[in-house]
Amino acid sequence: MTTRQAPSPEELAALRERYRSERERRVRPDGAAQYRAAEAEFGYFAADPYAGEAVERPPLRDEVDVAVVGGGFGGLLAGARLRQRGVRRVRLVERGGDFGGTWYWNRYPGVHCDVESHVYLPLLDETGHVPEWKYAPGEEIRRHAVRVAERYELYADALFSTSVTSLTWDENADRWLVATDRGDAFLATYVITATGTLTEPKLPGIPGVEEFAGHTFHTSRWDYGYTGGSPEGGMTGLADKRVGIVGTGATGVQVIPKVAEDAAHLYVFQRTPSSVDVRANRRTPPAEVGADRPGWARARRENFLRLVSGEPEENDLVDDRWTASAALLEKLLPSFRRPRERREYEAAYERADAAKMNELRARVTASVEDRELAEALKPWYRYACKRPTFSDTYYAAFNRPHVTLVDTADTHGIERLTRNGVVVGGTTYPVDCLIFATGFSVGASDIHTGRLPVRGRGGADLLEVWRERGPRTLHGFTAHGFPNLIQLGSLQNASSVNFTHVLDEQAVHAAALVAAAEEAGALIEPSRAAEDAWLATLARDAPDHAWFHAECTPGYYNREGRGRPDGPTAYPHGAVAFHALLARWRAERIDEVLVPRRARES
Ligand code: NDP
Repeated sequence: MTTRQAPSPEELAALRERYRSERERRVRPDGAAQYRAAEAEFGYFAADPYAGEAVERPPLRDEVDVAVVGGGFGGLLAGARLRQRGVRRVRLVERGGDFGGTWYWNRYPGVHCDVESHVYLPLLDETGHVPEWKYAPGEEIRRHAVRVAERYELYADALFSTSVTSLTWDENADRWLVATDRGDAFLATYVITATGTLTEPKLPGIPGVEEFAGHTFHTSRWDYGYTGGSPEGGMTGLADKRVGIVGTGATGVQVIPKVAEDAAHLYVFQRTPSSVDVRANRRTPPAEVGADRPGWARARRENFLRLVSGEPEENDLVDDRWTASAALLEKLLPSFRRPRERREYEAAYERADAAKMNELRARVTASVEDRELAEALKPWYRYACKRPTFSDTYYAAFNRPHVTLVDTADTHGIERLTRNGVVVGGTTYPVDCLIFATGFSVGASDIHTGRLPVRGRGGADLLEVWRERGPRTLHGFTAHGFPNLIQLGSLQNASSVNFTHVLDEQAVHAAALVAAAEEAGALIEPSRAAEDAWLATLARDAPDHAWFHAECTPGYYNREGRGRPDGPTAYPHGAVAFHALLARWRAERIDEVLVPRRARES
């Protein structure tokens, strides 16, 4: 069959059966419990390799207007949008040694952003920066984070290599008491949490890890001291090393071709192949993106958001594989939203999806010389089951004689480590260095895991309050009983593949809440009725995608094969509609969350 040709009913039936059996090979009874967090005895996997010597400083006992927990793009955008509203004392508290969040931690060789830099990098209109490449290298993005921090003077009050350990509402002062692992205990009128969603490195449960005598680290803590080189490559330290990489997700696909250039031998331990589409990275002259027009970046990212949210849009400014996949989304989303017409939409989606996946499998055949190897690298699931990836060098790396693919699907992943190697299917593969490209705990923001305890009015513990009936918020940001606390992230609001855009809308909203409370001399706190109404909105049109995820290969999209979490977790009509809803609410109803202060101002 040629690529993109409509598959016949017989071919579709055969594909369905193949997808089912490939899923069965991979589902594990232990689901997400198969993973270990990088803490306690595995804590060294999460240590900061970039911060240098810890700088001693006396603990702080002062007071700020806003404490922002997290110095990634969420925190930086909150800081920037607060500054635009004239807020003076803004203190970002960040676990890493500098700003950047994901882009501070992920410096592995080959690291790039998968989403076009002109829509991904925030505040381009405001800072005047125009990215050089269509898909920016990680270091450019990290430098942009620093640029934003400098432009909005966020270094002045920032705390680095510092974790917030508790947030406690002081009713006598109408302030939050912010405690940290560096002994700080300072007051903040408002707290904004921006602790990220894919931040905690996770590791496979690894029998024998204590026995392994080789070197080992996670991709989000790359050890250039050991490998030499930089994100561009040149890892001379690997010239005489047998290296193993576990994992072939979005990170693995970027890092594997770079390590293949420098290692004496590379073993790639694959469990589920990713879909790897065309990258076509190139320099983009400013004129090409219309960067001479005011507001160009805002218009471009709105256009991108509409397309990837399945909204009608005539022009495609970014014109890449994300926006091309919008044609698939247009067929899939209605099948989630209109259960009665599901079969009809699903059938149309299935045909389009099969054509797309056939195209991607044909790409493997065309790129990998060894036929058996090519077969092992082919993805057998529907396109939207797993995060798509993009590379023009990934498949070619497997044509190199010193690169070996080890398929671990039948053993549900690597089985164990010995002193010198990795065991799969009874064979031991000798390695000097083992690198985990095994991803991150999903949705594990510090507040929701309990790592950052939050006590509101009357000492109420946020997680305790939520334990019985689930999380309760208004728009995902604010919660009754927890005044002046604004949570950024993906809980009970709307998300998108261009997450920095979502974070910017959230930051604008957070800054507007703070400004409104300041102007009114009030606290920000939604009523229980407002929370109930929001939960009802989430439930009313909640999309039914359980059937889709139940047929998908396991991964973090479907809780390792167990389906999506129960209950509505997101706004059902997508990010574009959510942003419009927020803008309307700010214009017409923001006063609803303003309540009188209890404490008398001193
Ligand atoms: P993922 O969770 O996507 O991938 C983890 C990989 O490790 C999978 O291939 C998984 O296999 C494999 N794995 C896990 N346990 C084992 C085991 N026991 N034995 C063998 N293999 C195992 O993590 P990533 O870091 O790749 O990506 C996480 C997310 O980060 C992405 O989905 C994306 O959202 C983001 N990202 C974004 C980038 C960008 O450019 N914007 C770049 C990189 C990441 P299996 O699939 O079978 O579970």
